[in-house]
Amino acid sequence: MTQLRALRADITTLQTDAIVNAANETLLGGGGVDGAIHRAAGPELLAACRKLPELRPGVRCETGQARITPGFRLAARYVIHTVGPVWQGGGEAEAQLLASCYANAVTLAAEHAVRELAFPAISCGVYRFPKTEACRIAVETLRSLAQPALASVYLVAFDLEMFELWQAALEDSSR
Ligand code: ADP
Repeated sequence: MTQLRALRADITTLQTDAIVNAANETLLGGGGVDGAIHRAAGPELLAACRKLPELRPGVRCETGQARITPGFRLAARYVIHTVGPVWQGGGEAEAQLLASCYANAVTLAAEHAVRELAFPAISCGVYRFPKTEACRIAVETLRSLAQPALASVYLVAFDLEMFELWQAALEDSSR
């Protein structure tokens, strides 16, 4: 059974087997956690992302999907890039797409024998997904996935507000 834990940290410093990136569909870097991961991993990460095939011009990963690269200069062996939905009011399947991000990232992790995985709060920054709901979807999705090889999943928050929201979602789901 996978252990789920909230953790307040800069995700780029973690020594888990893999960290998840809240990327955009170009996979060529951006702001927020994406920019931080690219800076910490070094230019090799951008080069590896560029080599991933384009599905359409400029699109290497659809919203809700995931791709994996090495972690390069990070302590983490892999970066799993997933593209969260931009919040558009809730009528554009944002909840299902966010759940897919967590599920697809876990599937890729399992395929690469990842035992410890760390997620940022996907879509909770510039993509404006309501945070409480995003945390609930993440925890519910992660709890529903049986991946015996995956020992620990860390729900990482950069700030105190997000940390408290992760903790509340974990407490709610274990009631
Ligand atoms: P999105 O575009 O998916 O909304 P953002 O990067 O804007 O992604 O924000 C996602 C979450 O990641 C936010 O809660 C933000 O505070 C957090 N975040 C930003 N930098 C880091 C970091 N270095 N480590 C962990 N979380 C981070």
